[in-house]
Amino acid sequence: MNKKNYTTQMDAARKGILTEQMKAVAASEHYTPEQIMHYVAEGKVVICSNKKHASLKAAGVGSMLRTKINANIGISRDCRDYDLEMEKVMSAVKLGADAIMDLSSHGNTRPFRQKLIESCPVMIGTVPVYDAVIHFQKDLKELTAKDFIDVVRLHAEDGVDFVTLHCGITRKTLEQIKGNQRKMNIVSRGGSLVFAWMSMTGEENPFYEYFNDILEICEKHDVTVSLGDACRPGCLADATDVCQIEELVRLGELTKRAWSHNVQVMVEGPGHVPLNQIAANIEVQKTLCMGAPFYVLGPLVTDIAPGYDHITAAIGGAVAAANGASFLCYVTPAEHLALPDIDDVRQGIIASRIAAHAADIAKGIPYAREIDDRMADARRNLDWDKQFEYALDADTAKKIRESRLPEDDHSDTCSMCGKFCAVRSMNKAIKGELIDIL
Ligand code: SF4
Repeated sequence: MNKKNYTTQMDAARKGILTEQMKAVAASEHYTPEQIMHYVAEGKVVICSNKKHASLKAAGVGSMLRTKINANIGISRDCRDYDLEMEKVMSAVKLGADAIMDLSSHGNTRPFRQKLIESCPVMIGTVPVYDAVIHFQKDLKELTAKDFIDVVRLHAEDGVDFVTLHCGITRKTLEQIKGNQRKMNIVSRGGSLVFAWMSMTGEENPFYEYFNDILEICEKHDVTVSLGDACRPGCLADATDVCQIEELVRLGELTKRAWSHNVQVMVEGPGHVPLNQIAANIEVQKTLCMGAPFYVLGPLVTDIAPGYDHITAAIGGAVAAANGASFLCYVTPAEHLALPDIDDVRQGIIASRIAAHAADIAKGIPYAREIDDRMADARRNLDWDKQFEYALDADTAKKIRESRLPEDDHSDTCSMCGKFCAVRSMNKAIKGELIDIL
């Protein structure tokens, strides 16, 4: 079918047109193209693929597919090295990031964004509200509603696959936040900018007021809208409160409006959430947003582990994804402390991948468990090369083993138990061989 016969992947799916992207997603996720087309038509799977992103290897996001992970990077006032940020991107992709969000907030952001889209095979997302101040070189208060929409258009024209837009807070939220006395108010960077702009100008949220204009842009370029959660809780005490849920109700309404324009939608979610509230949060989102893929930041299950928030987020992320979240935004050890360096990025990605994979096994995602079973065989056979081949981070695994090899038998056991190796003893015992310990 000619590409011109449809606007977005959702439009194509609803017309019964199988796109190359749907076929690619079907092949990599072990579904039939028709099944993927059906999910895309319903809005339960999104294929974020701007028509201009020629280097993209199409991937699907949906709770019945492999859980995807995102890494945030970007030029900022405190890290202006374009080459270093690009190095972080390439390392993130190599380590298995399925998406890169360019959160650049300093200097000339456009050439970096364009280079990223030109060279990156994974989905690219942005938060246009960050870029508005930089692009127009105006202070926040001086920006007009039209300026914000123009930046969305610019990003769409550049080839961005999904944009986070904080459409769900309104002037009503202003009063709610002021009256509700949340411990952490608003911790979403984009959400706080929209809140501040509304406070200073007295106007309605432009991303809410001009949502139809945004949908026209997104429909034209096939940009997926990622409905940002400005009121995501920034601490356990604020989790699942009125502000968060009321915004989610509005995001559900906006999801329906986007779908009526054939625009693909993801919905963003918390944040900091106690472990026992995560499943309920996912259930409420799935119900209010009619199964639109849920993209969560964390959730971080405790507030007291700065330096280790890649772990607090991975715990929450695994539970969220096992309960139906589709997309995890990585959190690095530098969260709440500093801009992540290249090693923080690596640790954040590996932690997210562990969470995503653990959830995929629990959800029964097709073939997710296969590699674990192969790893078990390699461990039983004490086949170290195969163990490294199946490891999520082979370099680290190899480095640890090689730094502490057992003294007397390098090819067999490891130095954890040496000759007391249970695996070795059992292999020999089952074969009826002598077990030599001394
Ligand atoms: S020595 Fe211990 S830890 Fe190492 S492979 Fe054998 S049983 Fe496992």
